Amino acid sequence: MKKIALLGSTGSIGVSALDVIGNNPDKFKIVALAAGQNINLIKEQVEKYRPQIVALKERKDASDLETQFKNKYKVRIVYGEDGIKEIAARKDTDTVISAISGAAGLMPTITAIEAGKDIALANKETMVVAGDIVNKKAKKSGSKIIPIDSEHSAIFQCLQGRRRSELKRIILTASGGPFLKFKKNQLKSVRPQQALKHPKWKMGRKISIDSATMMNKGLEVIEAMWLFGTKINNIEILIHPQSIVHSMVEFTDGSILAQMGIPDMRIPIAYALSYPERISNNLPSLNLSKAGKLEFYLPNLDKFPCLKIAYEAGLAGKTTPAVLNAANEVAVEAYLNNMIKFTDISILIENVLSMHKPLRNHTLEDIVQVDSWARMQAKKNIERKKYC
Ligand code: NDP
Repeated sequence: MKKIALLGSTGSIGVSALDVIGNNPDKFKIVALAAGQNINLIKEQVEKYRPQIVALKERKDASDLETQFKNKYKVRIVYGEDGIKEIAARKDTDTVISAISGAAGLMPTITAIEAGKDIALANKETMVVAGDIVNKKAKKSGSKIIPIDSEHSAIFQCLQGRRRSELKRIILTASGGPFLKFKKNQLKSVRPQQALKHPKWKMGRKISIDSATMMNKGLEVIEAMWLFGTKINNIEILIHPQSIVHSMVEFTDGSILAQMGIPDMRIPIAYALSYPERISNNLPSLNLSKAGKLEFYLPNLDKFPCLKIAYEAGLAGKTTPAVLNAANEVAVEAYLNNMIKFTDISILIENVLSMHKPLRNHTLEDIVQVDSWARMQAKKNIERKKYC
């Protein structure tokens, strides 16, 4: 029985993870949950999964919940970043699912790694902003990092039993998002409601906008570089609108392995939890005879500049990806709040990146500082409309 702490339980990944866990009560047990502000959903989750402890973002969100939980379910509530970290490092857990969105997921994930927990990693931002530090810490503590992101799960699966020296190239597939067929000049006027409608995946708001700008794929390139210890130039992107081939790897002998399946996050989540074993589920099988044409083509970097910016930030390395990520988070939030246009997102990020002097031999503290600096610059630029 694997004992699990789930960080980000009320989100899209969190809910899917609970579905997998609930369907396998003989294999997994929820010990701790952490969420932000969705109190109604966390109440339901506590009732159903009976964790021992719950972490919430802020005390004010909890009101009379503390007494209610304590008396009815014997559940303790803890708060804020310290509360989430307490959950991430608990002695009685084996695996921590890291599924808080954005850079807020970084420190709890680091805490779990330092405590030697295995990590089922959805929070790609952790690897983007601090991949080298994370890898060193995981090596030291013995923590295994198993990706949940469908593309990285695919690559991880294709690499099983192979030596890293046999890996020639990673081919990350991308659905292309909701604006794949839009003309460049149409993108100026696309509304958040349109951008949030992903054609294949149902995801949280931030990652949905990242998919629409294709920043998501850029972040995934940097994530893949650190997860699989390969150079960024060995990672290619292919647009594959059907989202059936989740990614591929090419070996030195020219053989390419692909991992395929229906687009359902419960598959990579279950694999990350059960690895190295596989567990059965009731999901429909992929029927290739009914899948129609499978297409693959190169992305349009002119139409989706975020992808190019992310590649360049990954190449620049050091603290640059942390700036990229922070500026992107602020820009996405501003777009969702109708403060900037869709096409301003990339301009804003480029502005902030152009002001950054990357730090060598950076520490985790440097990453935290650079992150706040980039957020402040991005907010200033929005106030002064400096992205136009
Ligand atoms: P959601 O926005 O749906 O969920 C985010 C979760 O994080 C919620 O539980 C939210 O709580 C919680 N949260 C946010 N900020 C804080 C905070 N400061 N403190 C505590 N909890 C917080 O996101 P997704 O589930 O879509 O994505 C989660 C992560 O997984 C992201 O990093 C994303 O890139 C990655 N990912 C997601 C995929 C998907 O299919 N959704 C696929 C691959 C990767 P609340 O809602 O209660 O406020």
